[in-house]
Amino acid sequence: MFYWNDILAFMLVKSFLIPETLQHYIAANWVHEPDALARLRKETAEMPNAGMQIGPDQGVLMGLLARLIGAKNYLEIGVFTGYSSTSVALALPDDGTVIACDVSEEFTSMARRYWAETGIAHKVSLRLGPAVETLDALLADGHAGTFDMAFIDADKPNYPHYYERVVKLLRPNGLLLIDNVLWNGKVADPEATDLDTTILRDLNATIHLDERMESCLIPIGDGLTIARKR
Ligand code: SAM
Ligand code: CA
Repeated sequence: MFYWNDILAFMLVKSFLIPETLQHYIAANWVHEPDALARLRKETAEMPNAGMQIGPDQGVLMGLLARLIGAKNYLEIGVFTGYSSTSVALALPDDGTVIACDVSEEFTSMARRYWAETGIAHKVSLRLGPAVETLDALLADGHAGTFDMAFIDADKPNYPHYYERVVKLLRPNGLLLIDNVLWNGKVADPEATDLDTTILRDLNATIHLDERMESCLIPIGDGLTIARKR
């Protein structure tokens, strides 16, 4: 059993938007984190890429959203060590499904351990390979309009390609979440013109004007777009 002090001791500060003391307050008072997810966070914190993991507050939000819409079929692009996929899979019914896309056998081997430990492995189908190819295969196999919820959180240059495909894969009223859309504030800095920033800035503008979607951006983590397919 983990206690709040343990959680505080290794909670990664995840948001440049929220003061550190408030992030600790939120974690201590609003995050009911299963033991396994706390351990997954602790184990990931030892890795050089630990910063890629979503925060525990975002995991709670994603599980809550999945439950709110009664999600059954979830599509995730960017699994890493499994925090977001496990958070959502735990909120799906026992016959729910997760299509989990990533390129890394190494990262996802940790995810697989925690999927097994949390009793959700039977819901998850891991698709190792470039996610654009996986999404094209899903479309070719007739999965358009079948996903209740999707999360885009992989390589930023491919975000526009993921977006167009995921919009097709979602059902009407399906929910799309996109991570890192504030990109540490760089999307609002006109002097930031690197590739990742430009792509995220342009995609934000596209989604805002996209009549297929109803969307908002919330300042959690590094900025999260929440969009409903009309
Ligand atoms: N959602 C994860 C979590 O909750 O911890 C974090 C995902 S991490 C930010 C991004 C992941 O995208 C990495 O695991 C990386 O291997 C994967 N990735 C990078 N390029 C990819 C690609 N072309 N196709 C699929 N996955 C990719
Ligand atoms: Ca992310």
